[in-house]
Amino acid sequence: MRRNEIITLLQGGSDASLFEMARAQRVASFGEEIYLRGIVEFSSHCRCRCNYCGLRAPNDQIHRYRLTPSEILSAVDELAALGLATVVLQGGEDPFYDMASVGDIVSQVKRDHDIAVTLSLGERGSDAFAHWRACGADRYLLKMETMNEALYGQFRPGCDFHRRLAGVRTLQTLGYETGSGIITGLPGMTLETLADDILAITALKLDMISAGPFVPHHQTPFGTQAGGDPRIALRTMAILRLLNPTANIPATSALEIVEKEGRRQGIDAGANVLMFSVTPESVRKNYAIYPGKNQETQSAAHTITNARALIRGMGLIPSTSRGGVKVDRG
Ligand code: SAM
Ligand code: SF4
Repeated sequence: MRRNEIITLLQGGSDASLFEMARAQRVASFGEEIYLRGIVEFSSHCRCRCNYCGLRAPNDQIHRYRLTPSEILSAVDELAALGLATVVLQGGEDPFYDMASVGDIVSQVKRDHDIAVTLSLGERGSDAFAHWRACGADRYLLKMETMNEALYGQFRPGCDFHRRLAGVRTLQTLGYETGSGIITGLPGMTLETLADDILAITALKLDMISAGPFVPHHQTPFGTQAGGDPRIALRTMAILRLLNPTANIPATSALEIVEKEGRRQGIDAGANVLMFSVTPESVRKNYAIYPGKNQETQSAAHTITNARALIRGMGLIPSTSRGGVKVDRG
């Protein structure tokens, strides 16, 4: 697909046929199955200063928490008992959880359960990535957020575009199923830069790709900016599905927040993965990346039951498999 075609699709006007093609590609790649993942958000401490994120280090208005290793492992036990075959261990860039301690947790999860482990802990050294892989981690999510170097510098002060990109490549080299992605509608993005992002993310030949809308957080420098348009996020997902037929693409929780029935619409636009927080209810709402995040007060069991009902209600199958994908990078 050419840049101009992508821009035309992002403008709308052919949403019905775009989403229909994306759904057909999802079915061709995954059949009727939708994968469910449970996320344990185990630390809200972060050393970074991303201008869009409520967990940024300078934000002293949020309650920070850190789960203990045994609390993390209990949450994983619960998720496995609910029949989920993947745990995503996510957090801010929190040096407290270092190479050794994260490695120990990954090893213990792999000893206790036959499930896939995805890590999403930001930029860490190649030695840590390699150690965690050796401990059994299967996947890693490291979103670029944008592939535009100038915009990246505006969004993530103090971070280096090329270092993050090198991190994605290192993860691929280490044999992780590797995920990255973009936030749509951040300040300064245009349909043109988004089309470039879509093409550049596709060129990385990723196993997992996420595209979710920007949700402004009032305690951040971008707090008064407009949020991302959910229609553009959905079009981005659908185009990514067509360009990356076998990649795992989630319907993000950010989409659910900015759009009624966002997860359902995400599946209708070609997503094949739903992710839910199974972080203990006592701290879950404090993982305040953006307003509305993790405000569900129901138990993980209740959330997962509802998710399965949503999937079945769409005539699809809530999958019990790990749902791994290894894209051929030639
Ligand atoms: N700290 C790790 C990192 O940044 O890679 C992982 C956790 S971070 C909270 C997970 C993702 O949340 C980020 O990659 C970013 O895409 C998303 N995020 C953060 N703030 C957001 C916002 N205001 N709107 C939409 N997505 C946001
Ligand atoms: Fe930290 Fe990730 Fe939030 Fe950036 S997006 S401030 S790295 S938690």
